Amino acid sequence: MIVMKFGGSSVESAAAIERVAGIVKARVERRPVVVVSAMGKTTNKLLAIAAAAIAGRREEYIPQLHDLRDFHSRHARQVVPLEHRAELDRTLDEHFQELTELVKGLAVLGELTPRSIDAISSYGERLSSYIVTLAFRHFGMTAEHLDARHFVITDRHHTKAAPDFPETYARLQAAVPALAGRAVVVMGGFIGSTADGVTTTLGRGGSDFTASIVGAGIGAEEIQIWTDVDGMLTCDPTILKGGHRVKTISFAEAAELAYFGAKVLHPATVVPAVEKNIPVLILNSRRPEVEGTRIVSDIVKCANVVKSIACKRKITLVNIHSTRMLMAHGFLHRIFEVFDRFETSVDVVATSEISVSLTIDNSERLDEVVAELRHFADVDIETNQAIVCLVGDNIRYTPGVARRVFNALNGINVRMISMGASLLNLSFVVAEADLFRAVEGLHGEFFASLDPEVFERNGAVHA
Ligand code: ASP
Ligand code: MG
Repeated sequence: MIVMKFGGSSVESAAAIERVAGIVKARVERRPVVVVSAMGKTTNKLLAIAAAAIAGRREEYIPQLHDLRDFHSRHARQVVPLEHRAELDRTLDEHFQELTELVKGLAVLGELTPRSIDAISSYGERLSSYIVTLAFRHFGMTAEHLDARHFVITDRHHTKAAPDFPETYARLQAAVPALAGRAVVVMGGFIGSTADGVTTTLGRGGSDFTASIVGAGIGAEEIQIWTDVDGMLTCDPTILKGGHRVKTISFAEAAELAYFGAKVLHPATVVPAVEKNIPVLILNSRRPEVEGTRIVSDIVKCANVVKSIACKRKITLVNIHSTRMLMAHGFLHRIFEVFDRFETSVDVVATSEISVSLTIDNSERLDEVVAELRHFADVDIETNQAIVCLVGDNIRYTPGVARRVFNALNGINVRMISMGASLLNLSFVVAEADLFRAVEGLHGEFFASLDPEVFERNGAVHA
């Protein structure tokens, strides 16, 4: 069995769903279990509808609901055979009636709880998985739909629920392998439910997590994440074009990259797969012939020191100087307690005798944080910063990496530097205005020559 996960853009239209059907059909002997995201931007649209409802903007949410139904119906009709049209219409009606009632209820209450956010946003994956199942049948496969909420059992932490792994695995194990023996199994990502059946979600982007959970639960031989990029690259394509494809990378490296801004995969996603030693592949649904990136549990031997350069923009640098206490014990504790209290997570930290510098990417509650910190320290804030992070298992074994970094940066002001405890990343902070030049310099330095076992050169001709 393999798990194949298709993201929102891979199922955004009838044409996209048809492409997905082709990809799955070509792999049907491997007994695929397919996990899909909501179609296109559906989750955002559902959340916008909820927001309009609690603000009482009926003139907005009613047409938005119609548009969303229309969008699903229009694309679904093109991939569902005539004899299933009536069933399709009935199911869409049922879902949208329920959804409309829910939205009207919110409008009356004027309040949006995490529980109702989950109830509303679950419709995206419930609809897409159903439509994809019908489409698969239309394109000649035997396909069965499973409601992910009966299998992914979570705690009550709405909008970011954590799975109960033993229970979830037991349920998956009991149903999926037998079914996958005779049909392509299709389920929605992102959604789950509590033990007593209340709908939950795993957090934005949670479909990858579902794929990983399902793969681990059924002991899949491989988890394929089908997206709209060729896999992981040696640099962030939104900053610098011309990055090379990374063919193989370790879980640890991939998690660092994801944590430091690579959008391809959320780090939590890989955890269940790592624990079960199941490789995760990143593949492009628009170019299925590209081999993508294979993420494996073992270290990947590589002649290059660095596997990839990740970046995180819109970073705020917080410099905290101890006035009265110098580094009296308890100082760090007090600082982090404040960030913790205001639910602001810290990315990179550097300390000296009398000061602590750290970066945050969510500055929503920064004013409150700063006000608290000022009770016992001087604080200054620098916005528009960026983290650049070099990732590679070899960094820990190779002397002189820092020298090469500074050479490549060629005079760009580095605000802060940190070597991660994992020893496989070297990260530093530069002003956003310097980011492009920094990445360009570093990419030239570390990827001029490439280990052909690990990288495929950009522009290389495919056999
Ligand atoms: N549809 C959900 C979201 O947009 C989950 C996902 O796509 O992974 O966040
Ligand atoms: Mg997604």
